[in-house]
Amino acid sequence: MVNIRDFNTKAIILKKYKVAENDLSFLMLTEKFGKINIWMKGARKIFQKQKFGTYLDLFSLLEIGLYKYKSRSTENERNLLKNIKTLEYNYDIRLNFEKFELANFFLQTVNKMTILNTGKEVFALLNESLVLLDKCDANNLDYLKYIFLLNLSTTLGYKFELDKCTNCGLLVPDQIKRIVFSFGDGGILCNVCKQKRLKDNTYYHDFFQINKDLFFLLKKFYKLDVFDNNFFKYFNDKDKSVMNTEAFNIFFDKVMKNLINLS
Ligand SMILES: [Zn+2]
Repeated sequence: MVNIRDFNTKAIILKKYKVAENDLSFLMLTEKFGKINIWMKGARKIFQKQKFGTYLDLFSLLEIGLYKYKSRSTENERNLLKNIKTLEYNYDIRLNFEKFELANFFLQTVNKMTILNTGKEVFALLNESLVLLDKCDANNLDYLKYIFLLNLSTTLGYKFELDKCTNCGLLVPDQIKRIVFSFGDGGILCNVCKQKRLKDNTYYHDFFQINKDLFFLLKKFYKLDVFDNNFFKYFNDKDKSVMNTEAFNIFFDKVMKNLINLS
């Protein structure tokens, strides 16, 4: 015996799989249920008849109807696609290779950071980031990538502390030249607290020295709302040169690794 209910929700495809000649399976991030697997039976026939009137495209905002089946004996839940409508094509992403790559990075990162049936809190961020990417000038894509990453970590509950020492609350003085960032603490540390951490053998040390330029760029990224269309106006050539430094790239490699470990 099965229990069947049907739902409508907004959705973005994270990944497509071809399961059999006629069947497709999708990993979608949905507004109502977070990340779920969805089956589409007889996909080829349906496309031939153009019953859905559209192709299931990556990067588009979709509205989907789905049947949720629940087997009473196994408690397993399955989702079957009932109908689909494209709300936003984000068409330009397909016309520019850099945009296409960044959009893929968004989808893959969200996929890595979420497990099945979770992640609905990330839906708005992913949707708005794709819309913004679609409209964005190709020169400003790099900013978007890092604003997205920091916003994603914040949405998932890991907002870095940059205003004061994560441990004791001491404010960062304006004239500071080098700052210690601690990935174990999720923010900056004052010298006293850093020394304390170094003496504590049970503590996991992952310190990173950040210079003033990188520090202020990070603060800028955090201040920005990813949904602001004019976000690039807040950046200048100096920010671009900071983004080309080794320190910047090492820092964000560590951010990515920590996000994956935490999820
Ligand atoms: Zn401190």
